[in-house]
Amino acid sequence: MLTRLVSAHAALAVMIAIVPLASPRAQAPPNDWPLHGRVEGETRFSPLARINADTVKNLGLAWSFTTGTTRGLEATPIVTNGVLYTSGSWSVVYAIDARTGRLLWKWDPQVPRATGAKACCDVVNRGVAVHRGRVYVGTLDGRLASLDAESGKVLWQSVTVDQEQNYTITGAPRIVRNKVIIGNGGGELGVRGYVSAYDADSGTLAWRFYTVPGDPAKGFESPVMERAAKTWTGEWWRQGGGGTVWDSLSYDAELDLLYVGTGNGSPWNQRLRSPKGGDNLYLSSILALRPETGELVWHYQTTPGESWDYTATQHMILADLTIGGRARKVLMQAPKNGFFYVLDRTTGELISAAPYTEVTWASGIDMKTGRPIESPQARYAKPEVIKPGPFGGHNWQPMSFNPLTGLVYIPALDASFGYADDPTFKPGSPGWNLGIDFAMVAGPPGTVVKPPVGSLLAWDPIAQKARWRVTHATMWNGGTLTTGGNLVFQGGGDGRFVAYRADTGAQVWDMNVGSAINAAPITYEIDNTQYVAVMAGYGGAMRIGTPEPPPVQGRLLVFRLGGNARLAPLSTEARTRPAAIPVPAASADTLMLGAITYARRCMACHGAEAASGGLAPDLRYSQAITFDRYDQIVMGGALAARGMPSFKQALMDNELAAIKAYVLTRRALLTQGKD
Ligand code: CA
Repeated sequence: MLTRLVSAHAALAVMIAIVPLASPRAQAPPNDWPLHGRVEGETRFSPLARINADTVKNLGLAWSFTTGTTRGLEATPIVTNGVLYTSGSWSVVYAIDARTGRLLWKWDPQVPRATGAKACCDVVNRGVAVHRGRVYVGTLDGRLASLDAESGKVLWQSVTVDQEQNYTITGAPRIVRNKVIIGNGGGELGVRGYVSAYDADSGTLAWRFYTVPGDPAKGFESPVMERAAKTWTGEWWRQGGGGTVWDSLSYDAELDLLYVGTGNGSPWNQRLRSPKGGDNLYLSSILALRPETGELVWHYQTTPGESWDYTATQHMILADLTIGGRARKVLMQAPKNGFFYVLDRTTGELISAAPYTEVTWASGIDMKTGRPIESPQARYAKPEVIKPGPFGGHNWQPMSFNPLTGLVYIPALDASFGYADDPTFKPGSPGWNLGIDFAMVAGPPGTVVKPPVGSLLAWDPIAQKARWRVTHATMWNGGTLTTGGNLVFQGGGDGRFVAYRADTGAQVWDMNVGSAINAAPITYEIDNTQYVAVMAGYGGAMRIGTPEPPPVQGRLLVFRLGGNARLAPLSTEARTRPAAIPVPAASADTLMLGAITYARRCMACHGAEAASGGLAPDLRYSQAITFDRYDQIVMGGALAARGMPSFKQALMDNELAAIKAYVLTRRALLTQGKD
């Protein structure tokens, strides 16, 4: 064992010698996890090797911390100076003794609960940044806050969005050159995307880069926006356009370039956004910006004329690779569209691209132009089953890169979706504005949308080939961590936390933690003890379609060799079926209108087919009195303080009646034991 340990360290020393890292901050202290992706290049690789392929069999729980929440947890913790900083549902920040699990302080930004209806995919937060004794967090309602790292006291707060619009922040800020970089989400709800930089000391806005052009009549913010507008048609600005920067950012200090991943078009369906086509810059793109000014240096658009929710907000890893005999500074991304891209991060030149999952919307990437070769049926002029679907070949769950194996570990998906134009599309708020006919998501008649499959994929970015793959029982699994101990850690939707050999994919350890894991693990070392930490708690987009969610009680789980702490079992409450209430007769047309309107306005929170995955109450369990008060609740906002906003601006009276009839029908199926 000792020999292997020594050889792992030796291999690491060789790697460090042959891969000159870009900056002092790129070589983060080996014991800490100081930045979101541990280093500025966001590799999520830690050189720590006490826990390794041989010793990991002795891994056990060191301690756990209960957040007291039941919504999704997606944060990557930060560990520095013996303190673990993380965030949870509703943007609550926790500072915890990284050795013992003792809570040092907690900051609840008191996000108004009705903000939840603006979040496409749960009230999650992906983490904080820590810099010069301060903690930075973006809150769901669009604030950026700076807290004292010792006490949690608020130093400043800046509102980064128009809070009347459907903006949310779920992504982690990054600190570059004493500026806090933050984006936002809302691409499903009709917003215009941008990324901003705030002075880390004062909270004043330094610059803002819009990712899509606004209304030309109001004048463009820059020549870049004026040129981008030439790639749009119609009156795109009326529905925002999208391109939100809701997650991925990375930074190369040597090149002084900030990389920004942008999101899908709003609405998804390009016909309803830019009716005569066009590339629609800068949707679904990787942008290289000067962090001092926000000036655009280069861009690479993964999906021109985006029409499938193919975000390029997936995590971007910076590495130095030898490709074709040349040392290349690369940026790697596996965006939703299913292709793994290796770009030259100095220039944005495409070095290579290959499908890492089954792709049917395009047959490949033209290496001369860098553009996808679209399949004739890709733009669903008639309903089509297309791969990947809106969940992507890879979603937000971060991947990792191990310089010792040369492999990228992707939480991959194999998922298809029935795309169909929505001829009755009508934008409204709150609710999703996609322009997609929900009656076809399971595929048009005669087609089959197979259940999605999740896997852990070890990808060779030089050969653009899979080296190994572990297929999971569940689709929606966690992000990955890889270490100098020849390990990859990943949690699963099935509640297992697992370690694999990084070189072969052989499973070497696992533990059932009782609740699904979506977040990515981290590792750190204090006083010669190495720890592995992960947030456990099911949530996010997948819960929309999960009628019977696994039990959720938010926890931070921390492991060490020889750890023997007990994990309290989660309470599971069996629900009793509601009593039947009279269901007034409704026509088939009314029920169809109800189903469609429900999908547009209610589904994101209350679940597919009115069967909630727990983000908001399962409406089928509503009591008779709730149906008597439907108008007051849905239109009048009677329950706004509890998170149910008014839909007065979004619904016609006949649509409200149709939703009520539809939900009552769904309820009746439940009371009759047919659902
Ligand atoms: Ca989206």
